[in-house]
Amino acid sequence: MTYQCPKCGGSFTVEGGVQSVQCPHCNEVVQVGVPQAQMPKLEVELFEAGPSGKSRGVAGLLAILLGGFGAHYFYCGKIGGGITFLLIIWLVTFVTCGFGAIICVVPLIQGILMFTMKQEDFENKWVNTSSFMPLF
Ligand SMILES: [Zn+2]
Repeated sequence: MTYQCPKCGGSFTVEGGVQSVQCPHCNEVVQVGVPQAQMPKLEVELFEAGPSGKSRGVAGLLAILLGGFGAHYFYCGKIGGGITFLLIIWLVTFVTCGFGAIICVVPLIQGILMFTMKQEDFENKWVNTSSFMPLF
């Protein structure tokens, strides 16, 4: 590992773990091999809110249970998308005399996908996206 002396800025190479070594340039005693601070947890639990404040578990559940009302869009802050989605679902259902209710499989799939994707992907696809009405 190559380290930089905090005093003179000179670099030197040290093998091994945590130890005190003398800088070959200025003889300053430097502590090297100090373990990095714990990385922040990357995996966010299913029903835990991510950096955006939204949980993919909650969004997925809303999509599965109330997807026909665009609930998962409203939850993700996509108000316009939610209204559009709701109108499309109910218009298709109405125009086809109910047969088009099969379109309700769309939010069902969306919910299942939300459950299985990583929190990061969920936020990119559903919350932080500039898309008016993200689909999958
Ligand atoms: Zn030095």
